[in-house]
Amino acid sequence: MAGIYIHIPFCKQACSYCDFYFVTRTSEREHFVQRLVSEIESYEASSFTSEAVQTIYFGGGTPSLLEPRQVERILEAVRRTFPMEVREITFEVNPDDVHAEFLEDLYSLGITRLSMGVQSFQPALLEFMHRAHSREEALDCLRLLDKSAFEAYTVDLIYGNPGQQLEELEKDLDLLLDFDPPHVSAYSLTVEDRTRLGKQVKLGRVIPPEEEMVAAHFDLVNARLIDQGIERYEVSNYSRPGYEAVHNSSYWNHHNYLGLGPGAHSFWWEGEAVRWEQKRSLREFLRGEDVSSDAERLTLEQLAEERLMMGLRTREGVSFDQLNKRYLYSFSGRQIAYLRERQEEGKLTLDSRLRLSDRGIKIADAIILDLITLH
Ligand code: SF4
Repeated sequence: MAGIYIHIPFCKQACSYCDFYFVTRTSEREHFVQRLVSEIESYEASSFTSEAVQTIYFGGGTPSLLEPRQVERILEAVRRTFPMEVREITFEVNPDDVHAEFLEDLYSLGITRLSMGVQSFQPALLEFMHRAHSREEALDCLRLLDKSAFEAYTVDLIYGNPGQQLEELEKDLDLLLDFDPPHVSAYSLTVEDRTRLGKQVKLGRVIPPEEEMVAAHFDLVNARLIDQGIERYEVSNYSRPGYEAVHNSSYWNHHNYLGLGPGAHSFWWEGEAVRWEQKRSLREFLRGEDVSSDAERLTLEQLAEERLMMGLRTREGVSFDQLNKRYLYSFSGRQIAYLRERQEEGKLTLDSRLRLSDRGIKIADAIILDLITLH
């Protein structure tokens, strides 16, 4: 199966923590859609049409800054160009763009799943994050979603913010869980150098929270969601059974995907595995220049390490058989000894698969790093 990721690089304003590629001038949306349609059509009869497309993901930036008729033209171009066996089409929305008619239009275009960036309901935190929406807009958007035809949707939350108290996070969870969402993505705030937040931290104007506080936030999110029947299936992703995100799962499983639009990443494994990204430049994209970077060729060892990194963050873990057969990778004696020690500590389980336990998942990064280093 293959996936298509479409990057819509427009935002109303820059969120302080965001490291995605976007521009805040939105006047070029129509020109962008025209170029995007040409880019999609340029793949006609290429080797990338050899696999049927099962998932499409509109991410950004802010896809909900597009008009429904523009989304329709993009989807028509994809359907004309690629063989389709669609299981899921996800569309990211920001709460301040959503109204009932917009949701109806997206649904009638065949979008099957919405992803809403709420992050928090606390006005002070929304202001700190420099989000464009208010608490009321986030709640209104959830009410509209609740009444809409969309059964599948996800809500993004960010915890581990500087100064964020557990009580505030608890209030966010209370508000969110009242809507009984089928899927939640909860991320701890990460500080990236080239963001406004990164600069504030560097200058000492913002102090990130202690690790113990972030771990307490994770525990709270985990306990509240699981208590409500929304199970964790990846370190940051929780869903009711049957509502797991298909598109994101394909990243973790090294399925092929094609990224379209400036800043989008692609991965294709057919014979050799290659990864490339589109240059983060709307200007060059609009001029019709080839903005794809040189493809990075990945060795089987690199792929196996990636599979361990991504797979160990998931509930399914990693199968030994798959590591052997698809990646020609087997654990060294030192790795096996390390795994047995962590197993005794209750941090992982070992049968035909290697899986991290609840205790292990909290220190997933450290376990994965140790494991890879010991090969
Ligand atoms: S977090 Fe989303 S809305 Fe905010 S700047 Fe980044 S891409 Fe735009």
